[in-house]
Amino acid sequence: MTAEIIGIGDELLYGQTLNSNATEIAAKLMSIGIEPRHLTTVGDDAAAMTDALDRAFSRVDIVITTGGLGPTPDDFTQKVVADYFKMPIEHHDDMLADVTAKYARLNRPLPDFARNQALFPTGATRIDNPIGTATGIEIERDGKFLFVLPGVPSEAMIMMDKTIIPKLAAIPQTQVIAFKFIRTIGWGESQIQEKIGVEGLEKIEQTGCGLAFLPKHGMVDLRLTARAESKEAAESNIDAALPILLKATQSIRYAIGNESLIDLIKSELHHRQAWLATAESCTGGAIAAQLTDVPGISTVYRGGVVSYHNDAKIAMLDVPSEILQEFGAVSQETVEAMAEGACHRLNADYSIAVTGIAGPDGGTPEKPVGTVWIGVCMRERYEEGDRFAITAQKFVFPGPRHVHRIRTVNKAFEMLWRML
Ligand code: ATP
Repeated sequence: MTAEIIGIGDELLYGQTLNSNATEIAAKLMSIGIEPRHLTTVGDDAAAMTDALDRAFSRVDIVITTGGLGPTPDDFTQKVVADYFKMPIEHHDDMLADVTAKYARLNRPLPDFARNQALFPTGATRIDNPIGTATGIEIERDGKFLFVLPGVPSEAMIMMDKTIIPKLAAIPQTQVIAFKFIRTIGWGESQIQEKIGVEGLEKIEQTGCGLAFLPKHGMVDLRLTARAESKEAAESNIDAALPILLKATQSIRYAIGNESLIDLIKSELHHRQAWLATAESCTGGAIAAQLTDVPGISTVYRGGVVSYHNDAKIAMLDVPSEILQEFGAVSQETVEAMAEGACHRLNADYSIAVTGIAGPDGGTPEKPVGTVWIGVCMRERYEEGDRFAITAQKFVFPGPRHVHRIRTVNKAFEMLWRML
């Protein structure tokens, strides 16, 4: 089955809100073998919405809209949908009772405008919204489906997970799409392509799979995609192509599937019952932020220091001031001292340290903007005292400040992963 996702709202059109609903809904559909064919965005404009519905129903089996389902005057998706399907809109006492109860739970009286949320197109099916007041709409016509969801991402996603995905997953499909990611770090796209070789690429083509290279700041995800009449047939095509990619990516592959590099680092540290600490200068806590995005990281991550100024490097990481004076803040000696200091101060077994010049100012001919030193450290505990095995490397990453930071974060995780 194929799908189209229609994002509704002026703020999406004007670049003020990122259409994250489309991305998340598309990924959820792909996970059950339904192929999103079009992502459309329209403003709060009834004619544009009607036109979008018309086009979507002419070319896909499933249409999902998000936005404009609330009680305010700029929310008129329900009316457009009801008009499109020629369904009268009626008031429902039980819906009013439900909305009133939801307001009561928040200790708020029901505002007059919220009474609109008790209106619903006759003949449509309700989609329960457990965390908000706008009820979703489901309409089935001639074997095609329309699902109308609110714009608030948390509400739309819970409705996808609880109602729409289980419903669609239960429908027998005549064509499904399946995919698999091979995640790599350290090489560019062309290097990987060369390693796979012309013969390898031809063999992949013969399996009927599509191959995509998705570069992301020093990391490249390879995606195999297969379309077939059943999930099993599509997966077997992928299984036929997979060994070619596994062989080519042996030294740079960190995962097959959805695992992230941090997931792997976490389980490896866990396995060793080891603790990690971070010391960051130019990344300003971005490494710590990514680590703490992962649930359960508290079992292996002690914490980190953002030591931006030299004084902070001295005060919080015991970097000797002589090192800073002699070699500068962006140097092998400083990053090594930062890495050791982080292990020491935070009682960790491993650490990551980064110090660099993210720009746009601050570069010199010897240390241009983009220069960064990354160090990873492993503490070896001996009776006569601890030893710190440190690997430090210098990089000069091109691109603007935010790209420099992302590349530094990715490379730092790669270095720790390789050390582990
Ligand atoms: P509400 O009851 O809040 O009015 P609604 O269904 O009318 O819900 P909107 O008013 O369109 O939804 O949007 C509510 C919020 O969700 C806004 O902050 C909006 O920017 C955000 N939002 C809307 N559509 C999307 C989208 N496609 N992706 C991410 N955020 C979105």
